[in-house]
Amino acid sequence: SICHLDGRYLPLREARVSPMDRGFLFGDGAYEVIPVYSRRPFRLEEHLARLARTLAALRLPDPHGAAGWAEIVREIVARNAWEDQSVYLQVTRGADDKRSHAFPVPIRPTVFLMSEELVTPPAAQLETGVAAVGAADFRWLRCDLKTVALLANCLLRQQAVDHGCAETVLFRDGFLTEGSASNIFIVRDGVVLAPPKSHLMLPGITYDVVLELAERHGQPHQVREILEDEVRSADEIWMTSSTKEVLAITTLDGRPVGSGRPGPVGRQMYAWYQDFKNTVMRS
Ligand code: PMP
Repeated sequence: SICHLDGRYLPLREARVSPMDRGFLFGDGAYEVIPVYSRRPFRLEEHLARLARTLAALRLPDPHGAAGWAEIVREIVARNAWEDQSVYLQVTRGADDKRSHAFPVPIRPTVFLMSEELVTPPAAQLETGVAAVGAADFRWLRCDLKTVALLANCLLRQQAVDHGCAETVLFRDGFLTEGSASNIFIVRDGVVLAPPKSHLMLPGITYDVVLELAERHGQPHQVREILEDEVRSADEIWMTSSTKEVLAITTLDGRPVGSGRPGPVGRQMYAWYQDFKNTVMRS
């Protein structure tokens, strides 16, 4: 596949970055994953707004700005083969001559984009849902920033893999935060519940779409803090992300969620999401 590195387009296998890059040494960088359907980026503006927010919080100068990023994303999509793509975009604080925690002067960010085929959950997985484990959320207190420092997320996701599961549902101080790489919704008595945005979770682009769709279709929903016990006794649990879309979690720590099958509210939300996606892509 073709990637973008600091202004150049080249085959991914030929791309090289310095080992002195702060992304490598410190995990010092921001990233985004943008879903592309039929060669059209979905919710691009929102992804770029979140990138700008992360860059500002990391005090990392934005090397391009929204219009510049949009152009590079367009180019990457055009240069790769798939109709549906997952575009990965990363900005790090660049390389320095010596390893020092303090920022280099001046900062020369490293910009990297690559694309993969976007593979959303297959029909069989939508039919059965996926298994998840629960775990204590031991990440830092700026989980609202989309940074490449994902060691905690990797360790937490591996706990799921070790149990043959697809995702780890995180709880902090007895409350639901999110998944290792997704936001989590639950359904209780027909009401969709979502935890409020805070420094403890990533403000998902898909999370926003799901709440917009609930609002538009008159689906009862509430954004409020959710107790771990409420998750464990929920009728439905869903994970949402740009690549998983809306996917039912049907077992948690080996116990069935509700009926143990994807529930009616989640199926409806999945259908609304597909409709919305298709409408936006055709407009
Ligand atoms: N939370 C975390 C920790 C994530 O890594 C992701 C996906 N990258 C999400 C939530 C979902 O965000 P989005 O809907 O924007 O893909």
